[in-house]
Amino acid sequence: MKPIRVLQWGLGAMGSGMARLMLEKSGLQIVAAVDGRPDYVGKDLGEILKVGKTLGVTVTDKPETVLDKEKVDIVVIATTSWVKEQMVDLTRIIKSGINCVSIAEEMADAWAQSPELADELHALALEYGVSVLGTGVNPGFVLDLLVVVLTGGNHTVERIEASRVNDLSPYGPTVMRTQGVGTTPEAFRAGVADGSIVGHVGFPESIHMISDALGLGVDRIEQTREPIISHVRRETPHVVVEPGMVAGCAHIGVGYRGDKEVIRLIHPQQIHPQLENQDTGDYIHIYGKPEIHMAIKPEIAGGIATMGIAVNMIPHVVAATPGLKRMIDLPIPAALMGESAYKRRV
Ligand code: NAD
Repeated sequence: MKPIRVLQWGLGAMGSGMARLMLEKSGLQIVAAVDGRPDYVGKDLGEILKVGKTLGVTVTDKPETVLDKEKVDIVVIATTSWVKEQMVDLTRIIKSGINCVSIAEEMADAWAQSPELADELHALALEYGVSVLGTGVNPGFVLDLLVVVLTGGNHTVERIEASRVNDLSPYGPTVMRTQGVGTTPEAFRAGVADGSIVGHVGFPESIHMISDALGLGVDRIEQTREPIISHVRRETPHVVVEPGMVAGCAHIGVGYRGDKEVIRLIHPQQIHPQLENQDTGDYIHIYGKPEIHMAIKPEIAGGIATMGIAVNMIPHVVAATPGLKRMIDLPIPAALMGESAYKRRV
């Protein structure tokens, strides 16, 4: 089997984890790596990934030197959350005639919030004959694809409620800031109002995907972000939360068809939830015929699953028809454990 040749773009927490995973997969070969960090540029990828050997791939901050469709089958890009911010890089990749997987949250369904940019990407992908997928653990998997698949045997679906309760403790300062961890409740509300505290990025994308896949006709999405106020002291390497301060963000997204609520997604994220006896988990409830209740405890680990799903989708994206794709448009993801996994019919 000829391996699929991959360019890894972005070598942060996710991108470097994906690259390490790809090194373990017989059907994938990393042939190039891009990152803008000056301390990475010019170094061998093996050194950056700390895998104890050189890989013969030099990290560059000049993508134009490695975007060659004769040498690269697909780019996996892990640089930002926003479609608008990734547009220049995505355009470059597509115009080079190379397929792409992005883990930018908004790319999970770019039509949800940036329909014009999504149309532009889709048209470009058709013109250059490549496929582009947005994916990740959430959006991209737990609160959308998994929900959609669970309805696969249903005769009817009246309403869906799904929640993901997770622990933010492993994350760094950016996540603490954007979730409002360590602020006072007043500062939290001010941060939500001025847009500096965003909570989860992905509800419009997940709701849009579920609604489209089932034909639920969601025509309005509302979101609320409330502070999770701690009753105990909580601490991580990046933040200290005293009782009365904010330990996280309880973010809810609701999709309506007319006046009727049809999809409710709930994502309370906080540091050390166990200190207040809060279990973590993923829960999906489907109300219809039949009624379905799914619980995964603890939750599917976010970082591991994001790396996994981005890598596992690579063969599907390479084999797909051209265009901008969502997880509901391609064959279901599966772990790449052997040769047949790379050859599933699309
Ligand atoms: P990170 O900050 O650790 O890494 C980003 C890396 O990309 C850095 O090394 C940076 O130097 C590099 N970079 C940024 N812009 C670049 C550019 N234009 N060209 C070259 N290099 C560039 O972030 P991370 O934790 O690896 O996550 C990456 C993104 O993926 C984040 O926006 C995160 O929110 C998102 N994400 C999505 C999901 C999901 O479920 N969809 C899951 C995890 C992370």
